[in-house]
Amino acid sequence: FCTLVRCQHRSMSVVSKVTPQVQQPLNYVNGKRKDGSDDESFNLIQPATGDEVREVRSSGKSDIDEAVCKARDAYKSWSQMSGFDRGNVLKEAANIIRKREEELARTEVFDTGKPIWEARYDIRGCADTIDYYGGLAARITGEFLPLSNGSFSYTIREPLGVVGGIGAWNYPFQMAAWKSSPALACGNTFVFKPSPLTPLTAVMLGEIYKEAGLPDGCYNVLQGEAKTGTLLSNHSGIDKMSFTGSVPTGSKIMEMCAKDIKHITLELGGKSPCIIFEDAVIDNAVTGAMLANFLTQGQVCSNGTRVFVHKKILGQFLDKLILRTKKMKIGDPNLEDVTVGATISMEQAEKTLYYVDLAKKEGAQVACGGERVTPSDPTLKGGYYISPCVLTECKDNMTVVKEEVFGSVMSVLSFDTETEVITRANDTEFGLAGGIFTRDLSRAHRVAGALQAGSLYVNNYNVYPVGVPFGGYKKSGIGRENGPETLDYYTQVKSVYFEMGDAEAPF
Ligand code: NAD
Repeated sequence: FCTLVRCQHRSMSVVSKVTPQVQQPLNYVNGKRKDGSDDESFNLIQPATGDEVREVRSSGKSDIDEAVCKARDAYKSWSQMSGFDRGNVLKEAANIIRKREEELARTEVFDTGKPIWEARYDIRGCADTIDYYGGLAARITGEFLPLSNGSFSYTIREPLGVVGGIGAWNYPFQMAAWKSSPALACGNTFVFKPSPLTPLTAVMLGEIYKEAGLPDGCYNVLQGEAKTGTLLSNHSGIDKMSFTGSVPTGSKIMEMCAKDIKHITLELGGKSPCIIFEDAVIDNAVTGAMLANFLTQGQVCSNGTRVFVHKKILGQFLDKLILRTKKMKIGDPNLEDVTVGATISMEQAEKTLYYVDLAKKEGAQVACGGERVTPSDPTLKGGYYISPCVLTECKDNMTVVKEEVFGSVMSVLSFDTETEVITRANDTEFGLAGGIFTRDLSRAHRVAGALQAGSLYVNNYNVYPVGVPFGGYKKSGIGRENGPETLDYYTQVKSVYFEMGDAEAPF
């Protein structure tokens, strides 16, 4: 269903590649793996099988104190290195990631349940991001500002200090990479708490950075649930928090950061529109709507889950969409031809099915999917598999059309005019992304200008080329990741004024 390249790799022993990562200690502090020391722990469950894999000890106050202290020590020398030298470390890390792509991708599949071809695509994108910030590191400079009578100012872009990161579970390696690489390029050091559902690959990134020459203490990982995240966000040794997750948690973290006036980046949820005009290339619009809804089992923040289709083409569009959605192959995410893997957890699967049920009660029709599926492979029986769902007869005021589901549930709505669809598309508290499918260039620019969202795609959806900023309007967030703008969120600007004569004053 997807235009992304699928690599055909020889079959391999998945278990032998992933098991070493699973059983090792999962905190990474001052260049070494170790276990957390809190009295609380959580279970790591493999989404594809539903098996409990191991217990992971959470990080408590002493673990956080240690990681922040080591990051602060490491900051003294890392922040003094030239951008060029810091960039070389990042570029080398990108090379190592490319060499270890298959192992990283298999581990990501183990942790998330997403199909292997998607995981490979994610890992490759992360190598590119780290490479990109490696390249920009030497260009993080100030400005010379000439003033009157020979006086002048210059600005210096300085790092913030120790950056704390907290991530969600849908793109675990990407979150660690998208946050750490610009932070490190700017001369900060970093302490990251991944989602407890996906703890594995952020630690591997620590080892890759070390192999690439990153000094110990510059990149640290602490495992844990909300309690660990709260301790990290409240820690007085943290200068900035970069968070990816839900709006309610983002709001709590913002409150915690307010006490110490910490800098903050928030990458939050969405309920984005995907608008298909009557002149769109229908097959491409169907591909776009599927990319906007069904990657990573629908658990993508930027998903265009409100698919607005012009009345004139609604029938044609739905016929093709339903046919192609029914053909998606659900099953073992490690198989090359599978396009729908496992939902992350039982809780998330139940939430998705709850929204489908509620949509039916509120008057929507299920055109396909929206059911739990049990794969024939007996080892996958405990996994959380849901068939991708297309809902028709949707109305703007239905719960499924207003709230973020974070599962494979597409709501199809019809519209008549451009003005009407823009108003309806913007009628949401979110503003993360949006899609526009049309052959009319003027309309594409007009609608892109009118939609209130941070990322818009014309005739495609959910693509993240390196160097293009990503982030939300309204409740979808504050700040940007990816692209040069991100460097502004990991630095502060100092201005130095030079008087070339004597100071003038009326006293
Ligand atoms: P979540 O908010 O429940 O959890 C995110 C992270 O915050 C986890 O690591 C969790 O342990 C931690 N956490 C939870 N409560 C906390 C607290 N009180 N203090 C500190 N940390 C706390 O979100 P989730 O279920 O992991 O992820 C799904 C959400 O993430 C969706 O809303 C999705 O849209 C959003 N998301 C946004 C982006 C983006 O870039 N905008 C990307 C991916 C996911």
